[in-house]
Amino acid sequence: MIKSMMKSAVLALLVSTSALAETEVLLLGTGTPVPDPDRSGPSTAVIVDGEAYIFDAGGGMVQRAIEAAEKYQLDALYPTNIKHVFITHLHSDHILDASELAATYWWRRDEKLSLYGPVGTEKFINGYYDMVSVDIRLRTSGKQPVKNPTFYQVNVKEYVEDTVAYENDKVKIEAFRVPHGDIRPAFAYRVTTEDKVVVISGDTAYSERMVDIAKGADVLVHEVISEQGLSKLPEFWQNYHSTSHTLTSELADIASKAKPKKLVLSHILHYSAPIDSVLGEVQANYPGEVILGNDLDRF
Ligand SMILES: [Zn+2]
Ligand SMILES: [Zn+2]
Repeated sequence: MIKSMMKSAVLALLVSTSALAETEVLLLGTGTPVPDPDRSGPSTAVIVDGEAYIFDAGGGMVQRAIEAAEKYQLDALYPTNIKHVFITHLHSDHILDASELAATYWWRRDEKLSLYGPVGTEKFINGYYDMVSVDIRLRTSGKQPVKNPTFYQVNVKEYVEDTVAYENDKVKIEAFRVPHGDIRPAFAYRVTTEDKVVVISGDTAYSERMVDIAKGADVLVHEVISEQGLSKLPEFWQNYHSTSHTLTSELADIASKAKPKKLVLSHILHYSAPIDSVLGEVQANYPGEVILGNDLDRF
């Protein structure tokens, strides 16, 4: 009797431990189009039960994923293990390493990479096929071992409106349209798992919608622009940014209403102002937890 009780207690512990494989958020790139040696192009990984879901693939993110895989012993982030990449919009700073990821060691992949994103994603991938056509022709000529000669290819799912981009029994990934200047559509993503809600804003101007999208998130990874930095830019860029990006005071307003447990600043446009100006500016109007994100930060 006691033995069987102990056995079921151990089993319950095992089940609860496996159910507790906590969702993690890892920043693979916190940069912007402005060159910065410490920040790769935008990319955020959400790790759910040993699987990585990547949001944006800015230049340098593949290298960061390799670093993260080693640093945190996270096999899910080894390039050939990454299966799902979600694109917020087609600005080059958000997509260029999707081709790098698709090409990296593809001949050792166990399955194709899948790319989910706005209409136009397929065209981008067709461009990637053209770009690497010499390499593909040689590697698929039968002279070198490849696991599957089609695994350089990428599955693409495109959308133009709000949608459930992906869903399985462990994760639901919803795409929501957000305003980002002239580039349409642009999406934010809301990731719901058993234990967490993670929201990634992508690039977006201020919108009341973001309050609904981010409501109750455990982690809100949000883009931001420094008001101090913006004020010193030429008029064209001031106008451009105010219809394309979220000012620190606007982000404080969003966070005050959406009440995320953690607000993580990424894709930080600060120009001539020091980068931590954004932190001070948000904190001046928002009392919750705010973190200035750096590449390889883990939450
Ligand atoms: Zn951007
Ligand atoms: Zn953009």
